[in-house]
Amino acid sequence: MEGVEDKLYDEKRRRMVERLKDELNLSDRVAQALLKVPRHLFVPYQYRSESYVDTPLPIGSGQTISAPHMVAIMCELLDLKPGEKVLEVGGGSGYHAAVVAEIVGKEGKVIAIERYPELAERAKKLLEELGYDNIEIVVGDGSKGYEKEAPYDKIYVTAAAPDIPEPLIEQLKPGGRMLIPVGDYVQYLYIVDKKPDGSIEKKRWGPVRFVPLVGEYGFRR
Ligand code: SAM
Repeated sequence: MEGVEDKLYDEKRRRMVERLKDELNLSDRVAQALLKVPRHLFVPYQYRSESYVDTPLPIGSGQTISAPHMVAIMCELLDLKPGEKVLEVGGGSGYHAAVVAEIVGKEGKVIAIERYPELAERAKKLLEELGYDNIEIVVGDGSKGYEKEAPYDKIYVTAAAPDIPEPLIEQLKPGGRMLIPVGDYVQYLYIVDKKPDGSIEKKRWGPVRFVPLVGEYGFRR
């Protein structure tokens, strides 16, 4: 049975999604997905009361869970459809993967790769508890992508890269789309489309702020 605390968080989540819907003109499928995923369970206990404030929050290992508006915008820009196979680079808490998993549904799959084993472990456990059997959490350097499950309909990177990693372009299906923040102090989100003939079209969407992508095709820190 749902407790008083859960009901309080459900109400806070509903209000946050209403605000985001108005401000971002969200589609129903993205709004519904945000409504379903209990963000308060993905943040460390001490930040729970702030989990429905539209802000990034610390999740340990010096990393953050992205702000809900950024998750919502990235879901819209990816134009996700039921049944798609999606790679997330930078799995973190598992929250963003859960929102995407709600949209691609049971026929789809999300593979989320995270470089910190402790974050990946926590995300995996929580997602299992919540019943997400269409998400696979992998520990590794996602700047190289994840060849084993390639190609992907969609790829999104939640950490900023110095440039667009070539393996990620290779692992995208023709007709597929990738979102990736690029830059160091000044970062821009790029929309990268692989056309059916294999050619690449890049568009700069706007300025963003993400933690760095650290790895072979990322920053070498
Ligand atoms: N999407 C996450 C969520 O919903 O909580 C938040 C992601 S956080 C902004 C970025 C994540 O990218 C961090 O957890 C960081 O450890 C991870 N990261 C950085 N470089 C990486 C790499 N080369 N491979 C995989 N993960 C990486």
